[in-house]
Amino acid sequence: MIKDYETEKGLRDDYDVCIIGAGPAGITLALRLAGAGWKVVLLEGGGHEFSARSQALYACTETGLELYPDETRLRFLGGTSNHWAGRCRPLVASDFAVAPPGDLPGWPIPFAEFDHYLAAAMDIVDLPQGADFRAMNASLGGEDFEADRFLLSPPTRFAQKYATALNETPGLDVFINCNCVDLEFDPGAQRVAAVVVSDYQLQRQRLLAGQFILATGAIENARQLLNSESLRAAGVVTEDGLVGRCFMEHMNVDMGTFILGQGQDADAHQYYTTDAFVAEYRAGKGNVSTSVLSDVRAYGRTAEVKHFLESLACDMGVASKIEFIAKFSCPGDGVIGSMIEQLPNRQSRITLIDEKDPLGVAKVNVNWVVSDDDRHTIKCIGAELAKQFAARGMGFVKLNECVYDSSQPLKMTPHAHHMGTTRMASSAKFGVVDSDCKVFGTPNLYVAGSSIFATGGASNPTMPLLQFAVRLADHLDEKLKTARGALA
Ligand SMILES: Cc1cc2nc3c(=O)[nH]c(=O)nc-3n(C[C@H](O)[C@H](O)[C@H](O)COP(=O)(O)OP(=O)(O)OC[C@H]3O[C@@H](n4cnc5c(N)ncnc54)[C@H](O)[C@@H]3O)c2cc1C
Repeated sequence: MIKDYETEKGLRDDYDVCIIGAGPAGITLALRLAGAGWKVVLLEGGGHEFSARSQALYACTETGLELYPDETRLRFLGGTSNHWAGRCRPLVASDFAVAPPGDLPGWPIPFAEFDHYLAAAMDIVDLPQGADFRAMNASLGGEDFEADRFLLSPPTRFAQKYATALNETPGLDVFINCNCVDLEFDPGAQRVAAVVVSDYQLQRQRLLAGQFILATGAIENARQLLNSESLRAAGVVTEDGLVGRCFMEHMNVDMGTFILGQGQDADAHQYYTTDAFVAEYRAGKGNVSTSVLSDVRAYGRTAEVKHFLESLACDMGVASKIEFIAKFSCPGDGVIGSMIEQLPNRQSRITLIDEKDPLGVAKVNVNWVVSDDDRHTIKCIGAELAKQFAARGMGFVKLNECVYDSSQPLKMTPHAHHMGTTRMASSAKFGVVDSDCKVFGTPNLYVAGSSIFATGGASNPTMPLLQFAVRLADHLDEKLKTARGALA
């Protein structure tokens, strides 16, 4: 049942699982766990619709590349799925098999364990069962790029699609306008005992549960952990640990322009780096899209962001940012957009700042930076694409200077794919959650969403994060059954 915490304060104290955040990850977990018969509470900070008072709690500062963190997340029931575009490309075997360059390991689990959940995740976002991830165009030829393969979800709006289930699943309480403002770690019991919730009148209350799952998106998941004094006092969250570090985005680099070769078709194409490319160049992966348009106003994910910004401009006071995106004009015959993997890098990070939000929770600073490894990936993808285009008579590519000269500032926007701030690893030295998505140093605190990604490939994050959410629901179901069996 969906209840409004503004008017209904009656929280039970016997929930098996408390999930914080009702976006795709949180809604999926809540329905799975309640469907398995557990008593579940799902806490959502926003209401049924967008509101400035809830969205304002996402306000943060930035010191790195421009990320638009206030505009590319939505803080109400359904989360950012209220404006996601629905592009789904699965992570593949090589994403799990190949460690990224540098000293941080890749995924600590075998691909098969993750891939097992693909059908379930496809179903959740309304992709037909068994459908192949399709190439929309022919391959570029050669060894470095293949045609990109993806499917488009309708796109599924989680709050609408799952409204009946959220209202009617027995054992499930959903509280909207109920903000998590603290996680309480009990040093005696060595476990998380409660979350502290607040309404918008600053009335706080403790909520007890057996297991806790953070599902508030990659920036907020890190923020909640960093903000908890008791987790810091217990040494679960430390200054030199990885909470908040390795923030990753997909880089939407404006690679340059091209003049179409004689007799070549002018349709939009999407290519994806091959495993051979990644191995040869020790680089990240990437999607490149080529299109010949006479009036390009935005490309890739930027188009979605632009529409969102336009519709919310007055409420949010983001006129200068809108200008940056909306005044983009066609720079030539053909444009080359991209969605390029960012490799994990400790310096790209979320940290707390002294300023507090209206509910008294410390705000964060986002320092989104790209590394030399990322510049290497961008350069290799640009150079190879240009070579392949020329070799096949497809056209003449003019790369932007920043693609091959790393002293030039990148011409780039983000894709609104926030990942990596609570990365999964086999030990706390390299990550924040273990292979069951459980925070190291706690027995009952879990994280869901793309913040757990050890690496992100150049695949859209939502379907993979749903695969992990279903896997986590199965794990917790087993754990709770075992605990109940031990008590019986
Ligand atoms: C314009 C745009 C287009 C996109 N297109 C695609 C795409 O094509 N393909 C793709 O894979 N991905 C896409 N994405 C990304 C996708 O939207 C996210 O990957 C996905 O929504 C993440 O789900 P989540 O549940 O982890 O987090 P979110 O959707 O961000 O949900 C987090 C929830 O937590 C709640 N919350 C936050 N803090 C608190 C708190 N303190 N207390 C209680 N509740 C809280 C929020 O209100 C929200 O409901 C796009 C994003 C944008 C912005």
